[in-house]
Amino acid sequence: MTKVKKPHAALLASPGMGHLIPVLELGKRMVTHHDFLVTVFVVASDPASTSLLNSPTPNDDLGIVALPSVDISGLVDPKAPLVAKLLVLMRESLPSLRSSIAAMKCRPTALVVDLFGTDAFAIANEFGMLRYVFDTTTAWFLAVALHSSSIGKNVIWEEHVKSQKPLKVPGCKSLRFEDTLESFLNIDRFDGSQFLGTEMTKTDGILINTWEDLESTTVKALRDNNFLGRVVKVPIYPVGPLIRKDRKQVLDKEVKIWLDKQPTESVIYVSFGSGGTLSAKQIIELAWGLEQSRQRFIWVVRPPSENALGTYFTIGKNDGDGMPDYLPEGFFTRTKDIGLVIPMWAPQAQILSHPSVGGFLSHCGWNSTLESILNGVPMIAWPLYAEQKMNAALLTEEFGIAVRPKLSQTDEIVERDEIATMVKMIMVDNEEGHAMRTRVKELNSSAEKALSKGGSSYNSLSQIAKDCLQRLQA
Ligand code: UDP
Repeated sequence: MTKVKKPHAALLASPGMGHLIPVLELGKRMVTHHDFLVTVFVVASDPASTSLLNSPTPNDDLGIVALPSVDISGLVDPKAPLVAKLLVLMRESLPSLRSSIAAMKCRPTALVVDLFGTDAFAIANEFGMLRYVFDTTTAWFLAVALHSSSIGKNVIWEEHVKSQKPLKVPGCKSLRFEDTLESFLNIDRFDGSQFLGTEMTKTDGILINTWEDLESTTVKALRDNNFLGRVVKVPIYPVGPLIRKDRKQVLDKEVKIWLDKQPTESVIYVSFGSGGTLSAKQIIELAWGLEQSRQRFIWVVRPPSENALGTYFTIGKNDGDGMPDYLPEGFFTRTKDIGLVIPMWAPQAQILSHPSVGGFLSHCGWNSTLESILNGVPMIAWPLYAEQKMNAALLTEEFGIAVRPKLSQTDEIVERDEIATMVKMIMVDNEEGHAMRTRVKELNSSAEKALSKGGSSYNSLSQIAKDCLQRLQA
């Protein structure tokens, strides 16, 4: 085998932009700041992720390999939750991952997988590689996942879901039932593989897309040897925030021209992530709410769906197919001077970094949250699925950078008056909005510090580089 001085890390990304983007950013950072060779293996399932595979890499030390697509129809119940489908997709991709790694001249020293890729550790074991998990969301989510795997699914079902009582997590914020993980709601129907925590404790380290100062109490609890009531020795490495900060990239011409004409911090950006969709009724209320607020906006719209994850596996397909006809009559005419509607998909990282953007109505996906923080933009927290309600609770109650709209009691939608109130609260000059704007800018500085040389996230990756180098030289 060729002798190399640099450690080589293989990174495995599960399907979905929300997983692929941070894994690619992790790879870029390992290459540019920590002298790694990196190969990112991608299980891509949607056209948007596939297009991202052709995006430029910092240099030849970062390679991207798309694993052949797999057909899981017949292997998983079409009605199964997304987590179950992702786990099957990942499992079925393992033979091609194994043969790709086996064929490599420069065999990787380490395998880093995201939360859905832990089955791939069998391959790492076979080839004597170090094994790391990358949690692309919060330290709090990780604590909940580890805690839930230690107490078992029956306890979660009986003492949290059925009773609707808070889940107490040692040393961490308790999880209210109203904010619980989507996968807990089905926990009685699916097997133990829903517990992503079990395999994570048997690794050489867990990387988290957060930073120590943002979630200091939770990180401390995770490192505490008594966490889970047993000795968990796995090192915890906050390495974030890892997001695309495409300041140099050019915005779409039309969007840039429009944004350049707007006053500083006057525009609210409205988007529900890579897969989020709203019901027809909710879209109408949102349209009226934005109009009533009289604030400038950019809104990424998708056709209505009763499934909040309506476009997870299809995003990027038929993008920009004409203007939507499901918005209230006359909406475009009435808002033409203050609003821009973008169908399906927008260059979010670039929009959020434009100086005219001053607020973000978001589904609270963790990448979107980090993008907002790193651009100093306060948020309206409107969670839809997965762990997003937990993120919304953190943003409003712990970080103080977001407001959270109330759902109407009758039909569980957010009504237009509530939406207009929330938009004005973060966009119009007032004490509450001002406090959130100041706080989010403080978090932005603390994030930059964590990533800079000698900062906590920088040091985490340096330690991993040292461990890999040691393994390489052994
Ligand atoms: N994104 C984008 N344009 C869109 C919607 C989403 O560029 O129209 C990007 C967004 O910037 C973020 C990612 O897709 O980096 C979505 O990840 P997140 O964790 O926020 O949510 P998820 O899609 O996983 O629910």
